[in-house]
Amino acid sequence: MSLQIDNLGVRYGNVRALDGVSLKLEPGEMFFLLGPSGCGKSTLLRAVAGFIEDFDGDIRIGAESLKGVPPHKRDFGMVFQNYALFPHLTVNGNVAFGLEARKVPAADREARVAEALQMVGLAGFGGRRPGELSGGQQQRVALARALVIRPRVLLLDEPLSNLDAKLRWDMREEIRRIHRQTKITTLYVTHDQKEALSLADRMAILRAGKVEATGAPRALYQYPPTRFSADFLGDVNALPGKLSADGKAVATALGPVPLNGSALPKGLRPGAPATAFCRPESVIVVDESGALPADFVPLDAGARIVSGAFLGESTLYEVELPGQLRWRVLRHETREQGLPDGAQVKLAVAKGAWAAVPE
Ligand code: ADP
Repeated sequence: MSLQIDNLGVRYGNVRALDGVSLKLEPGEMFFLLGPSGCGKSTLLRAVAGFIEDFDGDIRIGAESLKGVPPHKRDFGMVFQNYALFPHLTVNGNVAFGLEARKVPAADREARVAEALQMVGLAGFGGRRPGELSGGQQQRVALARALVIRPRVLLLDEPLSNLDAKLRWDMREEIRRIHRQTKITTLYVTHDQKEALSLADRMAILRAGKVEATGAPRALYQYPPTRFSADFLGDVNALPGKLSADGKAVATALGPVPLNGSALPKGLRPGAPATAFCRPESVIVVDESGALPADFVPLDAGARIVSGAFLGESTLYEVELPGQLRWRVLRHETREQGLPDGAQVKLAVAKGAWAAVPE
């Protein structure tokens, strides 16, 4: 079902936690709320879940307003960061809880619990207690408990934050698979941009209680509407300048930078100050021969390697350009030494990698 949030406002005393937030989740969509700590993500999720009664605006599922509808009558499934399982109940007991509350007959209940545990890969674990499970398994139980009621909407609040890196990746895959299978409209809150970029159909970036940007992951990463959203989703290699009269390039100290043909962000006017930028993976270090791969354009300036961080599969270099500009260059180095600190290099940028945001 669709979930619509209209002009939502929430206050805690003098703190305006949400201010005029409007979003629409299409039926079956996996929608992410992303933003720094304190931007209002949890407040929005709690308002949708029904834990906040006093708010401005409206929250609707399909055509039905949720104003005044208590949490247990919303038929929403919820998964929290800390699992929130009942320690004294078995896995079966935990998963069956929502069905008992809904007075689902015992025989039916058993079948649905088994089905939900099967879906999260925990068939056969029903007799254990949460204390006898790993963190990842506990989070699967929490997911099964949310899914078993066949919720109209699934709400996930930082569900992977307490898991270590490897488990987080596995669970992420699991959540994607289950979502594809069930097609439940899902609102997923995280502060981790990689989690959002890798799972979302669409996402919204919140900033101080307002929606800063919305879009599909790739589009938002490549063509963010504001500097804040550009910075939040990844490293920004910036070149300050002015948007040309035809809006197709930014005039910078290093010459004109051609922008990709995609729509320009609102608020960017011809002749106005603008920041052109590209991402670290769109920049290469030109080798001694000066030969360039097709579709790369050399930058009209030298650069100095400040430092390199070896990340295993790649190395992230910090480089300095004229005008004290600091950039980052991501380099895949196979059977090769890294570049030494202090090395003078030439850089080239992939054609079509440039975007611009208002200064
Ligand atoms: P996030 O989940 O993005 O970290 P929150 O929704 O938790 O953000 O918080 C949004 C804002 O509301 C923050 O400024 C936070 O300090 C404030 N806030 C959250 N909960 C309360 C509360 N119970 N009382 C007062 N202020 C709160």
